Amino acid sequence: MSMTYYIDVYGCQMNVHDSEIISGILESEGFSSTEKPESADVILLVSCAVREHAETRVLGRASQLGGQWRDRKSGKPLIVLCGCVAQEHGNSLFARLKDLDLVVGPDCYRDLPALIRNSERESAVDFRESDYTGIEPVRKEFPRAYVTIMRGCNNFCSYCIVPYVRGRERSRNSDSILSEIAALSRSGYGEITLLGQNVNSYHDGDTSFSELLRKAASAAGNSWIKFVTSHPKDLGNETVSVMASEKNICEYLHLPFQSGSDTVLRRMNRGYSVQEYLDRIALLRDAMPDIVLSTDVITGFPGESEADFQKTVDLLESVRFDNAFLFKYSERTGTAACSLENPVPEAERLSRLNHLQELQRKITVEESGKLMGKTLSILITGPAKQPGQQASRTEGNRMVILEGTDFSPGSFVDVRITRADGWTHFGEPVENSAIR
Ligand code: SAH
Ligand code: SF4
Repeated sequence: MSMTYYIDVYGCQMNVHDSEIISGILESEGFSSTEKPESADVILLVSCAVREHAETRVLGRASQLGGQWRDRKSGKPLIVLCGCVAQEHGNSLFARLKDLDLVVGPDCYRDLPALIRNSERESAVDFRESDYTGIEPVRKEFPRAYVTIMRGCNNFCSYCIVPYVRGRERSRNSDSILSEIAALSRSGYGEITLLGQNVNSYHDGDTSFSELLRKAASAAGNSWIKFVTSHPKDLGNETVSVMASEKNICEYLHLPFQSGSDTVLRRMNRGYSVQEYLDRIALLRDAMPDIVLSTDVITGFPGESEADFQKTVDLLESVRFDNAFLFKYSERTGTAACSLENPVPEAERLSRLNHLQELQRKITVEESGKLMGKTLSILITGPAKQPGQQASRTEGNRMVILEGTDFSPGSFVDVRITRADGWTHFGEPVENSAIR
């Protein structure tokens, strides 16, 4: 009988897509997936190490899963920790988690079938995989698909563990990216998101990111193209003009600014000033007046004064992002920021975070409210949580709920927005709206 596996994912889109790659690797070797951890032969956890909280959660889950099966007569499933926490701690995790069987970093997923069959307690954490080309991922979010264009990061922002756990930046061959995009579009995927830690520094021979984007737009046919994450220091004018001129490249950009203070940005090693960031925003809005913008911010970075923090508040207020992901600074062992002076007390990091959350909630509600009565194109993604409702996304990544409709996932529909509730909206199809 074939072995069954259950997989749970924590963290960013890169991890979500890595779990699809892991499924592809396992299923090509005869494993079959199960939604029920209690009946699985193998349980895989794809972990995130970017903040301490994410790490604690996944380690807690691994220990709880181990304990749960200790007395099971039919034997304990194999528990496999994958992802960035696996890479960060390697072998040492076996001493902390006595039920853990395998520790497998992001570059070693091709070894999973052999490691599982071997069932020795071991870790595989070398940096060797370039990009998993040739693996057919088992995609789980139809009609939305992720396509990796690069792995790793060279930026070493001083707070960030990613370069240590994901290794140096490697760009994937552009022809293989483009043929994957074309195949996804032919299979009815309506939204294709290009993934990388810093997509703007993509480079394959002469093919730069803006060039890749232009070709991706044509390979994708009618399907939407999104990409994440952009770095303000590398987002070029050419990319902005390709976004504005290619119809199916979504007018949506996630552009983390992290801090509104130049001194903090310098200590973060971000490589741009507040003014340079604002110039990028102005360029984007000039080229695309309706562009939807989101960002990431960190509160309480070492040495962040009350005045520095106020500059972050000012930036959030002046740009008025449609959405923002706000985090309090979390020390990551081995990163440069750990040795900086004047750490901000935990309570202060939290109170600054709460302040920003409240401010952003207000802005998000106000900006969403402006969409009332407007007509937007949406992509039907599937059933919503409530029975009788369907969920969809706009090109700006906003969620729109439709009531009493029965479109097939992957359809594009024009809807009029009837209600806005923060990032979630309600809409009704416009009569005769074109369904592609
Ligand atoms: N490569 C992407 C994603 C990095 S991780 C990028 O550059 O934007 C996603 C976000 O987590 C970052 O943008 C940052 O805001 C946050 N983050 C990273 N390390 C952190 C840390 N040590 N503490 C708090 N937030 C952190
Ligand atoms: Fe981390 Fe900076 Fe690289 Fe993003 S660009 S992954 S924040 S080091």
